[in-house]
Amino acid sequence: MPDDRIEICSPATGETLGSVPIATREDVAEAAAKARVAQVEWSQRSLAERCTVLTQVKNVIIDRTDEICDLLSKEQGKPRVEAMVHEVANLVDLIHYFTGEADRILAPEPIPLHLLKHRASYLHWKPRGIIGVIGPWNFPFNICNGPVVVALLAGNGAVVKPSEFTPLIQELAREIFIQGGVPEDLVQVVHGYGETGAAVIDHVDMVEFTGSVATGRKVAAQCGERLIPCVTELGGKAPALVLDDANLARTAGGLAWGGFANCGQVCASVERVLVHRSVLPGLLELLVPKVAALKPGDTQADASIQIGPLNNRRQRDIVQALVEDAVSKGANALVGGNAIDGPGHFFEPTILVDVTPDMDIVNKETFGPVLPIMVFDDDEAMIQEANRSHLGLLAYVFSTNATRAQGIAERIEAGTVMINDVLATHGMPETPWGGVKASGVGHTHGDDSLRHMCQQRHVNYGRLPSLRSEPYWYPYGPKLYGGFKRMIGLILGTGLRNRLRWFRG
Ligand code: NDP
Repeated sequence: MPDDRIEICSPATGETLGSVPIATREDVAEAAAKARVAQVEWSQRSLAERCTVLTQVKNVIIDRTDEICDLLSKEQGKPRVEAMVHEVANLVDLIHYFTGEADRILAPEPIPLHLLKHRASYLHWKPRGIIGVIGPWNFPFNICNGPVVVALLAGNGAVVKPSEFTPLIQELAREIFIQGGVPEDLVQVVHGYGETGAAVIDHVDMVEFTGSVATGRKVAAQCGERLIPCVTELGGKAPALVLDDANLARTAGGLAWGGFANCGQVCASVERVLVHRSVLPGLLELLVPKVAALKPGDTQADASIQIGPLNNRRQRDIVQALVEDAVSKGANALVGGNAIDGPGHFFEPTILVDVTPDMDIVNKETFGPVLPIMVFDDDEAMIQEANRSHLGLLAYVFSTNATRAQGIAERIEAGTVMINDVLATHGMPETPWGGVKASGVGHTHGDDSLRHMCQQRHVNYGRLPSLRSEPYWYPYGPKLYGGFKRMIGLILGTGLRNRLRWFRG
């Protein structure tokens, strides 16, 4: 393969799927310039027109679902069902929600002034310009294109830098945007490695980044240099707290799906199971057979395969090293525990017990098919262990007592806590998605994510047009000083309140 192209290989078989050109810094500058020209016309269209175009895009996605799922399954490795549910259905619903609600979300918003009642204020929203979207390889269709849709609705253009491991699906996404009626130059796609991503940041007005903590720090620093906003959606180490009153059948099903969907390559995957000692035997009895039944394989060759390979060799090596570290420190694999030989990047779905806090498997992001289980004697110890991580994206609580579960959920340091369910809030576009601690800054999804794609602008005006001046204008003098002194005491201090209390007797 020439140096100026990236070759994409199937994660299941190693076969070559295609290649893409690597964009140089000049290519990125040119792409951003084209998007900028197209954005001027796009931003002048009404919001209703933009919603109509994005609705057409949604319909093209629906029409081309099979093609999208096939390519996702080939390039990323996931089962077609997951491509359908987690990527296509998720994105279609996001477009449906935001095209239906954009009018309300972006409506000018009055701010009631508490003091200067003769004036009024409102907020309105203007596009930022060009949004840089830099994405990962685990949900390449949904995670890159959700932000593109929201950016376009707000009147922006976009430059997308997909992961080097999954560029082909973004080529298809660009084709779909154009087929739906998005102006040809408005959404640009540039391929490459980290340098291409860094070049994108130099030419855009805001960055929406999803990826690792290490890269997120670099992206945020570069955005800081340029004083442009960035949203960083980074790693997770989601704990699942299984309380002593949990419904174990539901918990086992939730943990199996939450730990192994997308072969564990989900930022919200269950990466730590914290279970009350009294329910451990019952839980394992139900969980072990479920996980043992997950036989990894080529999702293209057999539609009944429930779990695919890891997407790339680098990720498989990370998972293997974490499991080896845990086993060397005393963990035992009840199921799995090994990489599978072959051209594909397969790893056996794994349950580890006898896990202790010194093991890398509970301290570093795994991003693979491993459920490490730790045992506790009370809720307090579980909460402390949950909050020990430097990451705080998602967390889960399993309990049949809603009040108790919510009390615990509110004490867990995570952007979202789900009770008796896992992963699913990414499919609820009205809810904010974002982490605390090193899991990132800002949110995708939720109404504010659309507003955040805009400059928030404020207009303040007088409600009494005949008023000739304001009390705080020139000339200054003792009268103005004394007037304001009386006002702060009377209205903003306790004076008036005391007087009112005195009147009330
Ligand atoms: P990386 O951080 O390795 O890469 C993310 C993207 O950034 C890729 O397109 C990458 O290009 C690009 N990139 C690399 N270096 C730079 C740079 N200096 N400047 C700009 N862009 C750069 O993450 P992964 O692709 O490995 O994704 C996995 C990570 O993503 C996990 O940590 C996971 O938790 C996180 N994630 C977070 C989500 C969330 O919502 N919080 C959702 C999904 C994943 P290239 O691929 O060519 O190196």
